[in-house]
Amino acid sequence: MKTPDAFSMMPDEWKAYLLSQGEKAFRAQQIFGWLHKEHVFSYGEMTNLPKVLRDRLDAELPLHSATIALAQRSRSDDTVKYLMTLWDGEQIETVLMRYHYGYSLCISSQVGCRMGCRFCASTLAGRKRDLTAGEMVSQIYAVEAAEGVTVSHVVVMGCGEPFDNYDELIRFLKLITDPAGKNLSIRNLTVSTCGLTDEMRRFADLDLGVTLAVSLHAPNDEVRRQIMPVANRFTMEELLAACRYYTDRTHRRITFEYALIRDVNDAAAQAKELAGKLRGMLAHVNLIPLNPVTERDLSGSDPERVRAFANILEKEHIPVTVRREMGQDIDAACGQLRRRHSSVKEG
Ligand code: SF4
Repeated sequence: MKTPDAFSMMPDEWKAYLLSQGEKAFRAQQIFGWLHKEHVFSYGEMTNLPKVLRDRLDAELPLHSATIALAQRSRSDDTVKYLMTLWDGEQIETVLMRYHYGYSLCISSQVGCRMGCRFCASTLAGRKRDLTAGEMVSQIYAVEAAEGVTVSHVVVMGCGEPFDNYDELIRFLKLITDPAGKNLSIRNLTVSTCGLTDEMRRFADLDLGVTLAVSLHAPNDEVRRQIMPVANRFTMEELLAACRYYTDRTHRRITFEYALIRDVNDAAAQAKELAGKLRGMLAHVNLIPLNPVTERDLSGSDPERVRAFANILEKEHIPVTVRREMGQDIDAACGQLRRRHSSVKEG
């Protein structure tokens, strides 16, 4: 039997593995519970397992948990940004935010990213590799264990394009919502995409109940192509058609992410154009001034521009929020911390 890494294994896969080793089936629930409920990162701590089994697991199914290499704590709010190291030395970012409803964690799905968005530091050196589902869940467990908190909401919006790692993403969603483990409510999960329309439709067909966030960042193809290479593959019309398909299939509102970039996508006329495109959709727009990226020549819009843009959308009856800028005093833009603290070079 081909097994994925141990943190990625579902209860039935543990059961099949253990039975194949002549062990009792109930051990599967015990091990899954240790990993996904108890924040145990080594077999040696699984005290209700016989030593001989623990030793065999150590030898055959090593636990590849993400570990915290560095934590940057914001002085202005409770945001903490972590640099995490994976078993092979690669590094990713994870961000903890405190809201009135609880703790939300933004996790990474790939080491780097190949989508090439111009405003993003994660993509500067391309994609190194995909994360396994186990490496996605272990970001959550590492933070919960280190901070003594319970993460109630998870956003797959860190380094990487989740739909570019589709199978592991789906496995991650199943693992984290499994009743024998963390048992996170599916309603508290958000997956963010830059707009891979084929995967969006596949994802819609699963109708899991996950919130979909779409990085739109432009009111038309011309502007979108300037800042997001993915717009050369899929037009905005195709993207919005995939969004409508998602809302039709799932009856869930889509969140459109729109980073306001000074003199690129923040004009009043562009707000009106955007409103025209989104009218009638089951959607909501999240506006946020761009976090500057040192290596890029783009900067965020002034607060007045942000407010004016939001006002136009409101007048046009498009639901909109201006997202709170969190962790401004730490390396806020995605990929910056990893870039500063590792030997990532532009590819
Ligand atoms: S914004 Fe997201 S999809 Fe775009 S390059 Fe960065 S990580 Fe990739």
